[in-house]
Amino acid sequence: MTIVQSVAAVGSDRPNNRSAFEKDRDHVLHPYTDFSTFAATGSQIIEKAEGAYVVDNTGRRLLDGIAGLWCVNIGHGRREMADAIAAQVLDMDYYNPFGASGNVPAAELGARLAELSPGSLNHVYYTCGGSTANDAAIRIVHYYFAMRGKPGKRKIISRNNGYHGATYVAAALTGIHGTKYGFAQVGEDFIHHISAADCYARPEGMSEEAYCDLLVREFEMRIEQLGPQNVAAFIAEPIMGAGGVLVAPKGYHSRMQAVCRRNDILYIADEVVTGFGRLGEWFASDAIYQTQPDILVSAKGITSGYIPLGATLISDEIYDVISRPQCEGGVFSIGLTYFGHPVACAAALANIDIMERERLLPHAAKTGAYLQRQAKALLAHDIVGDVRGAGLMLGIDLVADKATKAPLPAHEKASETIFQGCVSRGVIVRPVGNRLIVSPPLIVTEAECDAIVSALSESIAAFMASRRGAA
Ligand code: PLP
Repeated sequence: MTIVQSVAAVGSDRPNNRSAFEKDRDHVLHPYTDFSTFAATGSQIIEKAEGAYVVDNTGRRLLDGIAGLWCVNIGHGRREMADAIAAQVLDMDYYNPFGASGNVPAAELGARLAELSPGSLNHVYYTCGGSTANDAAIRIVHYYFAMRGKPGKRKIISRNNGYHGATYVAAALTGIHGTKYGFAQVGEDFIHHISAADCYARPEGMSEEAYCDLLVREFEMRIEQLGPQNVAAFIAEPIMGAGGVLVAPKGYHSRMQAVCRRNDILYIADEVVTGFGRLGEWFASDAIYQTQPDILVSAKGITSGYIPLGATLISDEIYDVISRPQCEGGVFSIGLTYFGHPVACAAALANIDIMERERLLPHAAKTGAYLQRQAKALLAHDIVGDVRGAGLMLGIDLVADKATKAPLPAHEKASETIFQGCVSRGVIVRPVGNRLIVSPPLIVTEAECDAIVSALSESIAAFMASRRGAA
C-alpha cells in the first residue's frame, strides 16, 4: 500500500478497488446533473472512442450523435492529434504567456485564425474554453469603451434561451433563466435579455418577415429604453445551440448588426458551437449570415475537443483602441495562466490541418443537408412539432399537440426516455427539456445519419406506444 492509499483507506470506509463507475458516482460533481436521480443511476462511463463512435464501460459501441458535446468535429481517437500533442509537450510544454513572452504554436495559430475568420478579426485573446472566452469578450468591450472615453457604455444585450457558458458572467449572459436559481444574480445591472429568435415559436399566423421586423423593433426599443449611450454590445449565437437549435428568421443577424452599427454598439458572435465546420464553414457569421462581427468567440471545435482552448477574436478597430497606453506604465490587465497554451494551440493547428486536408467543411455541408432532409420524416410522428437546423445542427421539438404547440408534461420525461431508447438502439442524441438535439462529428456518413434518424423514429414510436398504454 502506498502512503496515499493508506491515508485514503484510513480516511474513508470505501474500498480502494471500486470501479470507475463507483468512484465517479461518489466523487465527481458533474455539470448540470439531477442529483435526485444521479446517486441511483450514476454515469454512463465512456472508456474508448474512435471515429464517430464511443464505447461505454459495458462494452457497448454507440454512434456519437452529439460529437462529445458539439465539439469532436474531426472524430475521436486521431493518431495525428496524439502525435502533435506529444511532440509539442516534448518540444516546449509550457511557459509564461504574460507581458511580452510568447510561444510558437500560439503565434502560428493567431495568424491562422486571422486568415480563417471574416473581416478584420486579426487579433486573438486565448482562453480555456467558451465561457472564459465570453467573459473575456465582455471585459474587452468594457475596456474598449473606457479607453474611448465612454465608460458609461457598459450594458450588454443578450437573448432569452441563448447559452454563453457557466462562469459567472457567461452564466449571466445566458438566457436560459431556470439555470440561475440559487446563485447570485451577477451582472443584473448591466446584462439585459431580449426575445430569442425562434421561428418555430413565432406568434401564430405571423410570417417570417413580420417576425423578423418584430424582433428587430424589440431590439431598437430596448436600446432606446436603456439609452444608446449606455449600451456597449449585443451578443448572439448564429443558431442558438443549447437553447434548442433555434433558428432565426432570414435576414435577422444582418439587420441586428445594422442596428448595432447605427448605435455604436459592438456585435459579438458566439460561434463556440457554429464555428469550425458545424455549419460547413469555418465561421457562420459572414459566410452564412452576412454579418461582420466586431468580436467572434470560438472554442470547442477549435481543437475538436482534444484539449481545452477558447479564442476571443477582435477586430483591428478594437485592437487599435485597447492597445493604446491607458496611462504611463498602464497595462491591459487581463490574463490566464493557460493563455495560448502551446499544447492546446498545437492541437488546434493539427485539427485545422486535418479539416483542410480531408475537406471536412464541404463534407459537413453536404452531409448536414442530407441529415436535415432525412430528419424531416420525423414530423410524421404526432408528438414531433418541429424539426429544424442547419448543417450538422439538428433540433427536434416534442409537443403534446401540434396545433397549439403545447409541450408534453415534464413528468413524462419524453426527451429523456427517447434518448434512452436511442442509446438502446446504439445511438447517442441529447435530450434538453422538451427537445432533442443532434450534432454528430463532421466525419459522419450519410448511412450514419440514416442510423440516427431511424433510432430517433423507433424510439419516438416506442415512447408514444407506452404513452398510449399508460392512458
Ligand atoms: N457558448 C456557446 C454557444 C456554447 O454552446 C457553450 C457551451 O456549450 C459555451 C459558450 C461555453 O463553453 P464552455 O463550456 O467551453 O465554457
